[in-house]
Amino acid sequence: QSFHRVPFVLANWKINKLQGEVKDFIEKVNDKVPAADVVETGIAAQDIFLADMIRETAQSPVQVVAENVHWEDSGAFTGETSPRALADIGVNYVLIGHFERRKFFNETDSTVNLKVTAALRNGLKPIIDIDEDMSAYAQFMDAEPAVAQVAAALAGVSVDQIRNITIAYEPTWAIGSGEAASAEQAQKAAHLIRQTLAHLYSPSISEKVRILYGGSVNPDNASEIMSQPDIDGVLVGKAALDPDQFLKLAQIA
Ligand code: PGA
Repeated sequence: QSFHRVPFVLANWKINKLQGEVKDFIEKVNDKVPAADVVETGIAAQDIFLADMIRETAQSPVQVVAENVHWEDSGAFTGETSPRALADIGVNYVLIGHFERRKFFNETDSTVNLKVTAALRNGLKPIIDIDEDMSAYAQFMDAEPAVAQVAAALAGVSVDQIRNITIAYEPTWAIGSGEAASAEQAQKAAHLIRQTLAHLYSPSISEKVRILYGGSVNPDNASEIMSQPDIDGVLVGKAALDPDQFLKLAQIA
């Protein structure tokens, strides 16, 4: 029997929305999202909103997620957010290594790995973004770049810690482009990631790790993508700015 992974529908608001809009959205979805043991739902938002969001979702299964974190617990790093401070205000999950972080803020496989270990050390659950476009895999069956990105992100992550990791496969070309990967492409990539986890840890452990797909997901394409055997949810930017679409996606999952 295969292990049951609870689907995860995660909104990524990036730097959109103002305080009042955040409040309205949360009021709309709070008691309409599914129970957390059926479908987990989360919203990644700017740090300045997180504490309010945690208060506003106290009676709701919605998870409040940070979009980034620093790799040191404290010290002289002006403008950064400490993993210890995120955990202290009640954040559970943190997005690490999003394509936009890698592209605009010079994050590398090695800073991603530092952030993953810092998050785990502080009891935060990393959602690690894999942005490798897999074109080499699609064209020449060359899995090396994607496998290397997964392995680099997880360097030093123990067998006990891996259960707290979620992986999000988001091909660069699909993010914000309106052109999602096909369900078949997404499954192929997610399967490769799961095989990599099996190789790094064990096949049974690889079955326990959630793998999400992200990149131009909307309520029209989500159901086919989420029905793939290795895909356990979606990471959604644009469509999840709208509370009705977010709820629709949670229902589809
Ligand atoms: P998108 O963004 O759904 O707007 O493509 C996804 C993401 O950046 O995580």
